Amino acid sequence: SKSWTMVKHFDGEPKPEDFKLIEKELPPLQDGEILLESVFLSVDPYMRPYSGRLMKEGDVMIGSQVGRVIESKNSAFPVGVYCVANMGWTTHFISNGKELNPLPSEWPESLPRSLALGTVGMPGLTAYFGFLEICNPKEGDVVLVNCAAGAVGSIVGQIAKLKGCKVVGSAGSDDKIQFLKDIGFDEAFNYKKVGSLEEALKKASPEGYDCYFENVGGKFSDAAVPQMKDFGRISVCGVISMYNDAVPPSGPYIQPLILFKQLRMEGFIVTRWKDRFVEGQKQLLQWVLEGKVKYREHITKGFENMPKGFMGMLKGENTGKAIIQV
Ligand code: NDP
Repeated sequence: SKSWTMVKHFDGEPKPEDFKLIEKELPPLQDGEILLESVFLSVDPYMRPYSGRLMKEGDVMIGSQVGRVIESKNSAFPVGVYCVANMGWTTHFISNGKELNPLPSEWPESLPRSLALGTVGMPGLTAYFGFLEICNPKEGDVVLVNCAAGAVGSIVGQIAKLKGCKVVGSAGSDDKIQFLKDIGFDEAFNYKKVGSLEEALKKASPEGYDCYFENVGGKFSDAAVPQMKDFGRISVCGVISMYNDAVPPSGPYIQPLILFKQLRMEGFIVTRWKDRFVEGQKQLLQWVLEGKVKYREHITKGFENMPKGFMGMLKGENTGKAIIQV
């Protein structure tokens, strides 16, 4: 089995020399055990901040994959079954089945299994629960989402449209802006090109925003929070612009705005709703099959290119979910 380890804690942006490919022989299977090979692996922003907290130098990089059973001594997992696992950046792994999540039985052959790591997986569930439960959108609300062309943001925007909202998105390239228009965003702007974020946000919705799905933090947040309407709801999903900072930049303080506008701002980790994942996954799968939620994937081929795919995602090379295909 081959695995990518983190040999050095990231300092600022992750660099190629922070990763090392190792190889080890797996033991023969015991009764009840299953051998899987990774077919698709996920690279996600959380790996940047979480690696510092959860990993020691030399550990295998954290992460999840879609694996296929290639040998089995467990009748619940016959050869050929596909499962989502959370075994890190590794090509082959042994499981006792407890932490394996088989793809839903209604998964059609025609649908890429990699979607179980994206639109119909963790990022989709993040959009579904993090937006609906915390932003509590009503028909006619104006919704702002940043990182809008990414795995989570692109789904948030489409769910908001399904709920009858007006949706404004921001992303980092003109191609991404075109993608946002194609999937139904009402307004979209390239945050790297607008002179002033405040003006771009005002132009996109002069009346302000009812809901703000926050993926970026930092300066974006400083520009967006003042434009919230009274009683607005902010779902803090991520702060990707701040993950590489050892010390958070000092900025304007938003507490007076939260107070006087009577805003509600709440952070979340998607596993809060783990007891409802089956419900969320069913709904997302149905929307995808009905064509109501469209998806895009950014696929990097080759396990050896995993660090490259990860670093590229952090720099914005992906439109839609960043995936590694072994
Ligand atoms: P994406 O598919 O959106 O990929 C990351 C994107 O971030 C890049 O494509 C890039 O797009 C953008 N980006 C990178 N640096 C910056 C920056 N400095 N300022 C603005 N944008 C930047 O990733 P995900 O959809 O998987 O994740 C989106 C957010 O959701 C992240 O903050 C992540 O941590 C969070 N998240 C939170 C979860 C939770 O449980 N709370 C679960 C899953 C994700 P661009 O070209 O537009 O800059």
